[in-house]
Amino acid sequence: MASSIPDRSTSEWQALDAAHYIHPFTDHAALSKKGTRVITRAEGVYLYESGGRRILDGMSGLWCVNLGYGRRELADAAYQQLQELPYYNSFFQVAHPPAIELARLLSEVTPPQFKHVFFTGSGSEANDTVVRTVRHYWNVLGQPERTVIISRHNAYHGSTMAGASLGGMKPMHEQGGLPIPGIVHIRQPYWFGEGGELSPEEFGRVAARALEEKILQIGPEKVAAFIGEPIQGAGGVIIPPSTYWPEIQRIVDKYGILLVADEVICGFGRTGRWFGSEYFGIRPDLMPIAKGLSSGYLPIGGVMVGDRVAEVMTVKAGEFNHGFTYSGHPVACAVACAAIKILRDERIVDRVNDDVGPYLQRRWAELASHPLVGEARIVGLIGALELVKDKAKRLNFPDPGDVGVICRDLCIANGLVMRAVRDTMIIAPPLVITHAQIDELVEKARAALDQTQQELHRQGRL
Ligand code: PMP
Repeated sequence: MASSIPDRSTSEWQALDAAHYIHPFTDHAALSKKGTRVITRAEGVYLYESGGRRILDGMSGLWCVNLGYGRRELADAAYQQLQELPYYNSFFQVAHPPAIELARLLSEVTPPQFKHVFFTGSGSEANDTVVRTVRHYWNVLGQPERTVIISRHNAYHGSTMAGASLGGMKPMHEQGGLPIPGIVHIRQPYWFGEGGELSPEEFGRVAARALEEKILQIGPEKVAAFIGEPIQGAGGVIIPPSTYWPEIQRIVDKYGILLVADEVICGFGRTGRWFGSEYFGIRPDLMPIAKGLSSGYLPIGGVMVGDRVAEVMTVKAGEFNHGFTYSGHPVACAVACAAIKILRDERIVDRVNDDVGPYLQRRWAELASHPLVGEARIVGLIGALELVKDKAKRLNFPDPGDVGVICRDLCIANGLVMRAVRDTMIIAPPLVITHAQIDELVEKARAALDQTQQELHRQGRL
């Protein structure tokens, strides 16, 4: 069968890309100087560039291809469903088997308070759905003044108006007059960057108490929900101290506000538990999910709705005036069902917890002795390296971001995708990575660190 995508050379793709394609999160002036990298295929944990070069994908695409590339079962699930029923919706009192089956499977693999799901096309749409759901919930309960949602600086919850508002990324807020009304932010639990002289445990409690201070400042009767990623991903893999989430749980319980755990990255095994909430022992009322739900093979997201909210939404609330054309898309749902079954049948989450997780953690910790690395932190298969000018003082380089980009480009030159967030290098490799591939990842990361150090010496910055 002829492919709809023609065969072109790298330079032809680059020229067409520059002529027609506006990329997400991209400075096009900078891109046009370099030319885009073109990825043509992938297998397991490896990407292949146009021209054939192989690169180990230390980021699972954008934290989503948890089962690795080239899983035949997922392609088959999509192909079969495309022939059976390529599209139908679930508005207006209809549904189809793939969406119903996925809802059932999700109720089995999520924590016990979750028996219901609302489907979306992405993580951003899931977080828009969260904003509308929590406000609708309090309205139905006769407390319409409870509208404020508290989030955190440097959080990432998506790129739609509500998603970017919930997020705490200043550069995003500056473009487009965000946040929208009723969304406020507190400090993040980033001990390495903000902990000062406090121990991580002391700092975790201090950072969590910022929530209580904010609730009291706003007035508890106006606060609808608190949202947080169990581990902040795009903010730089910020793993909160062990004291943080228990204190947050205590505070949301005390004031009766809803707890939203954004599981878009942490969900489906990334931490060695099915959900990051389970790793940290918290009991969310709502959980946005996406990415690993279909292992990134097709776009799909959703919001897991806990019993407390579902009892109101499904009994008392009347019509919820909200939904997307692709809510519960049958092909995406069929692929997600297959992805969950693989995670379960191959015991991949246990493997992260008992085998590859501990192995990568041991090897990652070795990088902490590198002169550029101020901290090497990791949970499950999600980790970060802080690149610093002075290890002992936890002192960053001036012009944050510069050194991270040098290191990222050197990683790619060495055949490894490792992402830079300011000068924090982050990884989240596919959960199916082997020990030998972990060795390769760590050795390539070390080579890039050495070369970054040499480059900084050459530039007179070390
Ligand atoms: N929440 C979190 C925690 C995320 O990391 C992301 C995406 N990186 C989103 C939401 C948004 O998901 P999407 O890009 O699918 O809209």
